[in-house]
Amino acid sequence: MNNTTMTSIKVATPEQSHKQRENGLCSSCGLCSIQAWPAEQSIQSCFFKNGWLGEREKKLFGRERSLDDPVEMRFGMTLDRFTAQLKSPVPGSQWSGIITRMALRAFEEKLVDGVVSLQHTPGHHFFSQPVLAKNLDEIYATRGNKPVLSPVLYSLESAYRQGLKKVLVIGAACHLHTLRDFQERFEYLREMEILTIGIPCVDNVARSKWPWILERMSQSPDTACFMEFMQDFRIHIRHKNGRIEKVPFFSLPEELSNPNIFPSACMSCFDYLNSLADITVGYIGAELLPEQKRQWILVRTETGRKLLKLIEAELERFPETGKWECHSFVQNTTKRIIESMKPEEKEYSSTSRIPLWLGHILAGLLGIIGPKGIGFAHYSVDFHLIRHYYYVKFRHPELLEKLVPRHVRVILEEYSLPL
Ligand SMILES: Cc1cc2nc3c(=O)[nH]c(=O)nc-3n(C[C@H](O)[C@H](O)[C@H](O)COP(=O)(O)OP(=O)(O)OC[C@H]3O[C@@H](n4cnc5c(N)ncnc54)[C@H](O)[C@@H]3O)c2cc1C
Ligand code: SF4
Ligand code: SF4
Repeated sequence: MNNTTMTSIKVATPEQSHKQRENGLCSSCGLCSIQAWPAEQSIQSCFFKNGWLGEREKKLFGRERSLDDPVEMRFGMTLDRFTAQLKSPVPGSQWSGIITRMALRAFEEKLVDGVVSLQHTPGHHFFSQPVLAKNLDEIYATRGNKPVLSPVLYSLESAYRQGLKKVLVIGAACHLHTLRDFQERFEYLREMEILTIGIPCVDNVARSKWPWILERMSQSPDTACFMEFMQDFRIHIRHKNGRIEKVPFFSLPEELSNPNIFPSACMSCFDYLNSLADITVGYIGAELLPEQKRQWILVRTETGRKLLKLIEAELERFPETGKWECHSFVQNTTKRIIESMKPEEKEYSSTSRIPLWLGHILAGLLGIIGPKGIGFAHYSVDFHLIRHYYYVKFRHPELLEKLVPRHVRVILEEYSLPL
């Protein structure tokens, strides 16, 4: 890895950069650590200053999402949606590796000269470092999840200084909101053609908290190398020897439900499905089937179509499955969600947890009667929107107007929840 492409940097953590932020919210997206232009300009594009979606959505799509369309309100604007997996999965990727293949193909076809993304911190399966990947090996090394706040945008500095004209950025919603605003607001990146692939993202954590959290989820944190919250109401943790440890959500210790363990930024996040990406690639709306690695694709723009076309022949493609309806399922949880967002000092027990065997029975039952496919995605989006609305309402009431996109209030009304 050469020094011009592998960035070794000191990126400010939300805690360190707290003083710069007018509201204390920061997801360490990396833009403010760039030195090629003043940090004060980067901050002006911060999504915590400008709010989620709204004008940015209008600028990209020519309109905001329809408040009369329940699906568009949840999933954002799309040209196409389906589930798929690569016929030959990419080893070491998070699912089948659709994102990595798209990035490799975009580079091979000379659609882009570099990829702004992350690689694993050497020797650490879960931590990230930003990279401007400029050859196939470096792009291949970006695969896999890093479930911690990550300064993806930092590598735009190298792309800018090196005069790259066509760049692919792979990021979470906070990265793509800030990037799109910055590219429009300031001249620095205006000549750069930027293509974007988005990941859905929720419940991310600060890296300082990660070891504490992993110790409470897994019986063998030292050997864990993959983790995901799954549609079967369990966390799947893969270990170095290939064993998959499955922990029902219900059997996690109570202390992991404390909202204070998550960054304020992620608890104030209102774009789970990355609606400003050219294409979003996740798994949450795909059915979980044995021996399969089905992913969920939301093509949002013509650029997204172009990216998808690059790997179309490599995909096994399936229609979405599942029933849309999940109202009663969400409704049953709203009272508990709202209560848990109140900022009162509450004691969270480190020992209180439902035994694993009982947790598996509950998860199994919900797997049978609960929402599946797009119904599960609907449930997960609504759950998090409700949770985050009350988090902001109780803990940052002065930001409620600015941060919360208008469709969130319409969804709350569907559940007869107080605004
Ligand atoms: C904290 C977190 C929560 C997520 N929650 C969900 C969810 O609830 N539902 C869902 O459908 N999907 C979620 N995802 C996305 C999902 O885990 C996969 O990344 C996605 O489905 C792509 O799979 P793939 O096999 O194509 O990825 P790969 O081909 O392995 O590529 C993954 C790409 O994402 C990049 N990446 C990894 N971590 C981060 C990060 N922290 N920030 C920015 N970029 C990153 C990698 O560098 C790589 O370029 C989440 C991801 C993260 C990081
Ligand atoms: S989220 Fe990004 S743009 Fe916003 S303050 Fe943090 S580093 Fe700066
Ligand atoms: S949850 Fe939201 S704010 Fe946090 S890293 Fe993901 S997209 Fe960014």
